[in-house]
Amino acid sequence: APVTRIGPSPTGFVHLGNLYNAIIGERLAHQNGGTFFLRIEDTDAKREVEGAVELVISAMDFFGIHFDEGASVDGDNGAYGPYRQRLRKEVYQCYAKELVKKGLAYPCFCSEDDLSKMREEQISDKLNFGYYGKWAKCRDLSIDDIKKRIENGDKYVLRFKSNGDENNHVEVYDGIRGMLNVSENYQDFVLLKSDGIPTYHFAHVIDDHLMRTTHVVRGEEWLSTLPIHVQLFDALGFDRPVYCHTAVLMKMDGDTKRKLSKRKDPELGLEYYRSEGYAPRAVWEYLMTVLNSNFEEWRLENPDAPIDDFKFSLDKMSNSGALFDIMKFEDVSREVLLRTPANKIYDEFSDWLKEYDPEFYKLFTRDKNYSEKIIDVGRNGNRPRKDLTSWKQARDFFSFYFPETFKVEDEFPERVSKEDRYKILKQYLTSFNIKDDNSEWFQKIRDITESMGYAVKPKDFKKNPDMYKGSVSDVSGVIRVAITGRTNSPDLWEICQIIGEDEMTRRINLAIA
Ligand code: GLU
Repeated sequence: APVTRIGPSPTGFVHLGNLYNAIIGERLAHQNGGTFFLRIEDTDAKREVEGAVELVISAMDFFGIHFDEGASVDGDNGAYGPYRQRLRKEVYQCYAKELVKKGLAYPCFCSEDDLSKMREEQISDKLNFGYYGKWAKCRDLSIDDIKKRIENGDKYVLRFKSNGDENNHVEVYDGIRGMLNVSENYQDFVLLKSDGIPTYHFAHVIDDHLMRTTHVVRGEEWLSTLPIHVQLFDALGFDRPVYCHTAVLMKMDGDTKRKLSKRKDPELGLEYYRSEGYAPRAVWEYLMTVLNSNFEEWRLENPDAPIDDFKFSLDKMSNSGALFDIMKFEDVSREVLLRTPANKIYDEFSDWLKEYDPEFYKLFTRDKNYSEKIIDVGRNGNRPRKDLTSWKQARDFFSFYFPETFKVEDEFPERVSKEDRYKILKQYLTSFNIKDDNSEWFQKIRDITESMGYAVKPKDFKKNPDMYKGSVSDVSGVIRVAITGRTNSPDLWEICQIIGEDEMTRRINLAIA
């Protein structure tokens, strides 16, 4: 059965790409009775920030990503740990010694100065950077030399001894991209830094072997170093896992496609979805549409099936830039919420409000029954609702249902004079009866429309703009703005039913005053 993992570095920023890769790993493992684990790649102490490990763990947890083993808040669990690289120093050193013994690794005493001189020469000769050829000065030091320098206390790193042939090619199978033909690595890259801490290259190879990883799902930024990794697996005598390199997330910026950027695009950070109040399963669902070309079709055919029923497959992944389209994401999010029962939305929305808007939380949870009605407005109606996409948007939109947060935010229709507006509202107040059904109610609006010299059919007004002052949509617009404070709202009759006659009357009187 497959064993997969994610190996985030605790930098304090949890990336959408982390989730993207986690979903793939999670599906590969759990769909096939395998194991999915979390390894913390914290070899770069300079980049680490306080609390970053907890941040990764809570972000994954928020999105419902469950690990069978690995790092967790109360320590590590699983038989293959520790799952934090900094606690595995001795393990790496053991394997390093073995490579030295085999003649496949050697200490290098070159100083920072030596290396920057090397780089300058390589730049001016327009050559590839790296430790190879005539620059690899420590490659053939004698044992005696090495001993002397170590005894002398000279600082050194440990380098891998590559075969040094720049023109060799190797074939590597990629789980998403198929067979790749890549130039072999010919540089003597670093395995252990001078403080004995391994590089990513060395650490992940050993860990993925010892932790019996079968599929390494990671971003395409690692493709260029793939030859190094493959060589290391071979040199250590380990079976290679199947590497699966996922495409970088791109977005459209005007007419050009570009990489999502940490600076410009808040949606690149997972925290964004939480604070904006997107339901985790909406994010999942959208990422699935990006990940697997057949997901949307499946969803159309199985609107109510749990997402776990979808058979995720690497074959259905694209290997060119995956497009992250926030508008499309919002559509998916809206659809997901439309399928979610009101009581579940009530719970999730309340949880979010409690954390992000405690004032509104009080209003919203004052009467559960009332709030569930708001959530259900227009759910089965013919006015497609736009107000339930994220909790933040819902909060802004739902505010008009509560007397405390109601305010007139939009302008009244401009075709209607102030005088007419008052007349319309007064007539509405006298004719309104809370017991009227939707069609009786609407007939009354038509009657007002006619009596005021507006067209009952908007198309009549369009044809003969001189014959009418406006149309029924202007008349209902006046009532709508008075009652909801907005030009756009769900079905007005339903809203009146929810807020009740007293509150409705209060608002209309406010608009007339
Ligand atoms: N530590 C690497 C990163 O943060 C993980 C790459 C991998 O999954 O092997 O990108």
